[in-house]
This record gives sequence, C-alpha cells and structure tokens, in this order.
Amino acid sequence: MEKIYSSFEAIQQDLKTQQTTCQLIVKAYLHRIDENKHLNAFLEIFADEAMQKAQEIDAKIAQNNAGKLAGMVIAIKDNICYKDHKVSASSKILGNFESLFSATVVERLLAEDAIIIGRTNCDEFAMGSSNENSAFGNVLNPIDNSKVPGGSSGGSAVAVKANLCLVALGSDTGGSIRQPASFCDIVGLKPTYGRVSRNGLIAYASSFDQIGPFTNNIADAALVMEVMSGADKMDSTCSAQEVPQYSNHLNDKKTYKITYFNSCIENDGLDAEIKAKFMTFVEELKTAGHTVEATDFPYLDYLVPTYYVLTTAEASSNLARYDGVHFGYRSPNAVDLESTYLKSRSEGFGEEVKRRIMLGTYVLSSGFYDAYYTKAQKVRRILKTKTEEILSDYDFILSPTSPHTPFDLGKQVDDPIKMYLEDIYTVHANLTSLPSISLPLNKHTNGLPYGFQLTTKSFNETALLAFSHQLLQNKN
Ligand code: GLN
Repeated sequence: MEKIYSSFEAIQQDLKTQQTTCQLIVKAYLHRIDENKHLNAFLEIFADEAMQKAQEIDAKIAQNNAGKLAGMVIAIKDNICYKDHKVSASSKILGNFESLFSATVVERLLAEDAIIIGRTNCDEFAMGSSNENSAFGNVLNPIDNSKVPGGSSGGSAVAVKANLCLVALGSDTGGSIRQPASFCDIVGLKPTYGRVSRNGLIAYASSFDQIGPFTNNIADAALVMEVMSGADKMDSTCSAQEVPQYSNHLNDKKTYKITYFNSCIENDGLDAEIKAKFMTFVEELKTAGHTVEATDFPYLDYLVPTYYVLTTAEASSNLARYDGVHFGYRSPNAVDLESTYLKSRSEGFGEEVKRRIMLGTYVLSSGFYDAYYTKAQKVRRILKTKTEEILSDYDFILSPTSPHTPFDLGKQVDDPIKMYLEDIYTVHANLTSLPSISLPLNKHTNGLPYGFQLTTKSFNETALLAFSHQLLQNKN
C-alpha cells in the first residue's frame, strides 16, 4: 500500500533514508487523484511534467544539491499563472488562454524544487463561498460529499484534505483560503496584505487579494511562507520588510493576550454549538495561562456591506480587460466591435461575476460614487484604525472562521445575500490588511468540521504561526 504523507517532515525523512523517491511520491498522488476524480478538485493535472520534474529532483537529491522544498508536491488555484500552462480562473471567458509568465510565487516555489501537480477548481474569478460558481462544476467536500467544500479556493482545500497533494495555494480576498480550510478541516493562512507578491495572480479586488497556503499543519505553512514571501519588483504593493524564518520560531511558547468580539459571538447567525464550544475554548486558553477578554466591536454589521461595495468596484475595473479581444474567449456570434464586447462577455462570464461587475459599476457611477464607494472607503479606514487600536492592547483576535459547518450543495446558491453573509467573520482581516489563519480545531456533533480563526497585527506572521502551532499540538 502506498504511504500517505501528512507532513513535509515525514517526506523529507523518508527521502533522506531512501525509503521513497520523489517519483514514487508523485506517482502515489497521481494515483489518488485518479481515484478521487469525483471530487472535481482539479481542472488539470500536469502528470507527465510532474513525473519528469520528480526524476530531475531525485537526481539532485542524490547529488546533495536539491532545494529546500524537494519532495513537496503542490497544487495551485486556477487563478495563479504558471508559464505555458492554461489558467482560467474557472471561467469560460479565459477559454484556452495560457499564461505568458509565471506568478512570482510559482517561480519561487519551483526554484526551491517544489513540484506543481496541477491547477485546482475554484469559484469563477474567486467570487464565491461554496465553489458552486465555477464554470467547470461543483467540488465535493471529501468529508461529506453532499456538502460544499467552501470557496472560493474549494479545489485547493479539497486537494490537501483528500491527500491529492501535500500543499495547495489559494487566494484570499475575503476569506477564500480560511473558510474552505474551516470546511475541510485543514490549516489555511491569509498573510498580511503585501507579504506575498500578487504578480501573476489574476486580480479580483487588488487592494484585498493575497495568496496563501493550505496545509495539514503549521510547519508546512511556515516553510512555504518563507519561500514565497518578500519584496518583488513586479508588485509595488509587496513589502520590502525582511522575511523571518518562521519555522525557527514555531516552538516559542509564550502566553498571549487575546480578545474576541462580543458582537461576533452574539451574532444571530452563529450556530449555537459553535458558540458554546468557542466559549469553552476561551476558558481553556485562560487555564493555559493566556489572558482572554471580550471587546466591544460595534462594526460587525458594516463589514460585509463595506467589503462588497469595495471589492465589486475593484472587480468591475479589473475585469474590464476581458473583452473578447485580448484574452481567451471570443463569441462566434459577434459581427463587429460592439457585439464582440457584448456577446463575449454575456456568454463568457457566469451569473455571479456579472452580478458583481454590475454592482461595482453602479457604486462607481458618477451619481452614486460618493454615496457608496467613497463612503465605503471611509468605513474601511475607521475599521482599520479601530482594529489597530484593539491590537495595540492584544496579540490576537479570536473568532469562529465561519458561522456554521459546511452546508448542503445547492442549498443557498440562489440566495446571494445569504451567501455573502457567509463571509461575516473573514472579511475583517482583508478590509484591515491583517494576517489571519483558520485552524482545524473542532468537530461538530453533526459530524462536520469547523475552524477557529486568529488574526494579528500586520507582519506578525511569526507569532501567528507559533501560537497556531502551539494550539494544534495541544489538540493532538
Ligand atoms: N466569499 C468571498 C467573496 O465571494 C471571498 C472570496 C475570496 O476571498 N476570493 O467575495
């Protein structure tokens, strides 16, 4: 029987003692991918190429000159560019478009000898919370196939949970890494805005988007972050702050000051059992020596509306480039310039993407600009200032990642407002640019998983990962 790995440490150990090879590891993943096709996690598998790369890395290992990620098999969300490979953002409008360059994160991972095994399914242009907005079909939650895996990076979360790869990359604009991580019982990290380069990430809302990892444990997330993070001349919003060696700090055992928001816990939408478990967890943290206090945060109801005004505005601008001329799909029914735009977009974009382009165009229109866009920018500023004030007194903000466990496929896909409210706990970190992680800490009596989320100060990933490591170790 082939061995299933749930940590890079175990892979490295077996490579070192020659119990396995990169080729055997890739073969095993390809086999599992084949057996789990029904999950629809991948849009494309780079099988031959991954095997070829594995062979090259095995040779490097034999010569003792392999990179830091030798043996790590990674899947990438289908909105991250990989030169000469298709990228579609799970949209018809990109047609058979192939990337002309690789995202900076892809280049950095490959330079350390990671193996990219394929591109994963997601909500179209990363817009969604259930992966039901993909033009290429739903993704099934591997824990219960009747449930959604979360979104928008559903395929990436499922690929890690079902052991179809060791690590996967996602993007998080409003929770798209953390919420599927919560629904699939794994770790999902959204870094500080500007920690990881966005060069080569297909833009949804540029002032919110960040790439981050899905992993089975914190050590793997720390390692991947060390490799991916840091200044990039191709992304001017990417910070030049030095990248710490996160892995070296994972065993820093400290006691922390933690807060949670009363409004989050009193929220009507929160599942009663999750609420009770959350309060028990707070008590456990206190017993372990941490300080945990409630804070009033009277802005909870403003988060989702502010997020949707600003992200749709940015999306309407970012998505204007898909016009039937420059990329991918062009309607065969078009006869002139006007109908090329109209028909290519009408036929190429899905419902949710159209809804957001229209909403974004509306909030930016001259008559409504101040009432919506400017106002939302002001609210974003207040949220940022108030949150920073809170984080000057506390190390972490703790909350549930999502108000409930994974829901039924098809159940709320026709109710956009309900779907948007899924993001109530996650959009805060994106609105305020802060790093945030979802930790697989809980199982509901309904048999399904749910995560707790920690958010911290800008560029404080070191403590975020160290504390997360501590919490997951206590769980085991
Ligand atoms: N669910 C959110 C949305 O639909 C988040 C998406 C994301 O983070 N990419 O906008």
